[in-house]
Amino acid sequence: MILIDGKKAAAELREELKKEVIQLKSKYNTVPGLTVILIGELAPSKIYVKNKEKSAIEVGLKSEVIRYPETVDEKTVLNKINELNNDVNVSGILVQLPLPKHINKQKVIETILPSKDVDGFHPMNVGNLSSGYESSVPCTPLGCYLLIKKIEPNLNGKKAVVVGRSNLNGKPMTQLLLKENCTVTITHSKTKDLKGECLKGDIIIAAVGIPELVKGDWVKKDTIVIDVGINKTEKGIVGDVAFEEVSKVAKAITPVPGGVGPMTIACLLKNTIECFKRIQK
Ligand code: NAD
Repeated sequence: MILIDGKKAAAELREELKKEVIQLKSKYNTVPGLTVILIGELAPSKIYVKNKEKSAIEVGLKSEVIRYPETVDEKTVLNKINELNNDVNVSGILVQLPLPKHINKQKVIETILPSKDVDGFHPMNVGNLSSGYESSVPCTPLGCYLLIKKIEPNLNGKKAVVVGRSNLNGKPMTQLLLKENCTVTITHSKTKDLKGECLKGDIIIAAVGIPELVKGDWVKKDTIVIDVGINKTEKGIVGDVAFEEVSKVAKAITPVPGGVGPMTIACLLKNTIECFKRIQK
């Protein structure tokens, strides 16, 4: 069984990105810049943003965090995004979710220029991804994809089962696997025989938010299992996959923590660099 080491893969990706930033600097005399907008005081959001800032600086990007109180009005945020859209020093814009209730998430996402949308949430990027065109790809599924490709470079004809259909994870994951010529089944809370569907997968990606949903007898031998879930339980943080059982059957599996999580931020940095390069083109 291969334990897929997301920390190591993310560190390798950051090293590659660091080198690329040096090359871009010598070519363009400037480096890509990531600006994050953080609204409110939610502890997990504050931790994510701090980690994003730290990682961005580590690979040599310009990094800026704009903080607003929970009570900031929507217009102020939208005006700031428009200002950042027009700022040549800003290559990527990210508004940390979730937002306070009085701020319309969709409006915020659609105000970010698609070419600076490092999260890949703008409908234009969603459409481009599903049409197979160049686009920003949401960071977590992109991280999963890169981990899968490390284990299995040729995905032609593989059967992939995606558990969960969120816009953040399941749907973009499906598009990435389709692009690689997988036969993809996308499952969700109304799927009738989830175990039966999972048993058909050469690759299973679980992005649900239910602790240890995918059991050992749901997985056939030689399957690659990617666990996106992060669930707080009495025994600590666990994924959506029953790791102990599934790791006895699977060909390869990501642990939680230390699997998909570390790749998410590394992919955000990758997306920022890709946005910069597309703008330069
Ligand atoms: P979500 O709540 O938006 O979507 C969950 C999906 O699971 C839905 O499509 C729903 O239909 C499906 N679902 C619910 N119950 C189900 C069931 N019994 N059987 C099959 N499908 C079912 O969740 P999300 O934002 O995609 O996040 C999923 C998990 O991934 C969460 O644990 C979240 O914390 C984690 N997450 C991790 C990272 C990371 O960097 N590792 C990033 C984002 C989210």
